[in-house]
Amino acid sequence: MSFEHDHSHDAFPDEALPEGSVVDGAELARDIDEAFDFVVVGTGAAGAVAAHTLARAGFSVAMLEEGPWVKTREFGDRVYEAFRRMYRDVGTQVLEGHSYIPLIQGRCVGGSTVMNSAIAHRTPEDVLGQWDADFGLGAHVSASTLEPHFDALERELNAHAVADDVLGENNRIFLDEAAKDGLPARKMHRYERNCRGSGRCVTGCPNGAKQGMNVSYVPWALSLGARLFASCRVERVTIEHGKATGVLAHATGDGARSKGRTVRLRARRGVLVAASTIQTPNVLRRSGLRSRALGEHFSCHPGYGVGGVFDNPVTMSFGATQGAESTHLRKSDRIKLETIGMPPELAAVRIPGIGGELMRRMGTFANVAVWAVVVRSEAEGTVRQGWGGRDRVKLSLTTRDVERTRNGTAILARMMFEAGAREVWPGIFGLPAVLTSIDQVRLIEEAPADSRLFSFITTHLFGAARMGPTPEGSVVGPDFQAHEARGLYVVDSSVFPTNLGVNPQHSIMGMSRLAATRIAEAARRTAAA
Ligand SMILES: Cc1cc2nc3c(=O)[nH]c(=O)nc-3n(C[C@H](O)[C@H](O)[C@H](O)COP(=O)(O)OP(=O)(O)OC[C@H]3O[C@@H](n4cnc5c(N)ncnc54)[C@H](O)[C@@H]3O)c2cc1C
Ligand code: SF4
Repeated sequence: MSFEHDHSHDAFPDEALPEGSVVDGAELARDIDEAFDFVVVGTGAAGAVAAHTLARAGFSVAMLEEGPWVKTREFGDRVYEAFRRMYRDVGTQVLEGHSYIPLIQGRCVGGSTVMNSAIAHRTPEDVLGQWDADFGLGAHVSASTLEPHFDALERELNAHAVADDVLGENNRIFLDEAAKDGLPARKMHRYERNCRGSGRCVTGCPNGAKQGMNVSYVPWALSLGARLFASCRVERVTIEHGKATGVLAHATGDGARSKGRTVRLRARRGVLVAASTIQTPNVLRRSGLRSRALGEHFSCHPGYGVGGVFDNPVTMSFGATQGAESTHLRKSDRIKLETIGMPPELAAVRIPGIGGELMRRMGTFANVAVWAVVVRSEAEGTVRQGWGGRDRVKLSLTTRDVERTRNGTAILARMMFEAGAREVWPGIFGLPAVLTSIDQVRLIEEAPADSRLFSFITTHLFGAARMGPTPEGSVVGPDFQAHEARGLYVVDSSVFPTNLGVNPQHSIMGMSRLAATRIAEAARRTAAA
């Protein structure tokens, strides 16, 4: 079946939606009880793709999303405002462990794809090989089974290398220096149509260029007849006689009319949970699943940024937010090096100094570049439901994880000096806040490998409802169905047996599309029987 999108009209795709296709939980004046073939929990990378795939296959589909739908025309450039409206817990979630690591997620229609940088990477074949060798998944999930899904996603979301005219200096300096050093690097491949290089991905793309789920698969699914229940938080999946029968949700938002309103959606054929690695395990737990593997084997990619001050303007406010990368050290050192354009409000927390010194450095902001090391960490942690129903995530990085971060930081600092930086800000507690010569990079290399000394952040999340062939040690089978309940599918990266070493959204969408395609085929077979 072919599916053509019309991009010729002027309205953004999140406008002019089919009449009655969106129910806003924040404005709900009555309780809801409706039935669909499939109910999908979450509208991020995984949920939106699954919902669209099922709608395109001709099934009636409902999507539920805890957060609001913030439209393209509402996106501003104020970071706090974006965090307040679109980020989970206003961006204050943390990984608890040997150190506290901020964990950032979206909570809005489109999930974390609304504020992400649109970077698209296929799942590395060696990672899929590991999933086969260690978890016996090769017959079900492999490069060849995923390939048609990646092809379709790349076509539909227009994945391509960053264009030269929106590359920007932050990305260009990285690529030029990598070329001089003989470090293989490339322009990132991103899902976008006519990116204007406004460097504002983190507050939502004001141009509708980034192909987040809010302007792609969610509205496309609605145009195929799906319904969206926004600002509706799923409390649990209802399971009767070992089979998922629907979900129970309640309206979120402050509206007096909607307070206490419940949304019951019945699912004739199945419930797909795609609430993300952090929320999915707790949705499953609240639904009565008791697998010992539930909430275990959580993993992530901690990221660590390095700042450099150049003589000439870098102007991070122009250029693809993230536009250059090197995966050369992914296999050997488990690190990926990349650029990341930062708005001043976010970068400010890492700008050295106080008082006059801080003000002086803020004055150099136009000349600052920020690059980052992303680590395929070995550490595994847990996801539990804590006090007040909050998601509680624990993980302590291993010494090797920190050593790898430190090595990547040293490589980036050296590259910055070689590219002409007059100052490098390593951000490692106990080291000088400002390095002024390449000789000082050895201080980074000699820093203690203690995660408490580094300012990590993480946005790439995996595991905690792992896939595997048997109920011992896994939560879902290779058909994405929970071992404990028929018709209950998990289609986000909580099923990934390991982390990846590359940016995850493309893998998440590819896996979700694969899952939904198979679920649709199975449902058709059942209907025909
Ligand atoms: C700032 C940032 C930048 C990033 N950059 C990139 C990048 O460039 N490339 C890349 O590959 N990855 C990137 N990522 C990561 C990527 O966006 C995520 O891996 C991906 O979006 C995860 O997909 P998901 O569907 O599992 O979860 P999400 O996209 O987070 O969506 C889950 C949705 O489910 C909703 N939900 C949760 N619980 C419930 C419930 N109980 N009821 C109803 N709804 C619920 C949430 O509100 C959320 O909207 C970035 C992430 C962030 C935060
Ligand atoms: S850099 Fe700007 S125009 Fe390009 S995708 Fe990000 S927010 Fe949109």
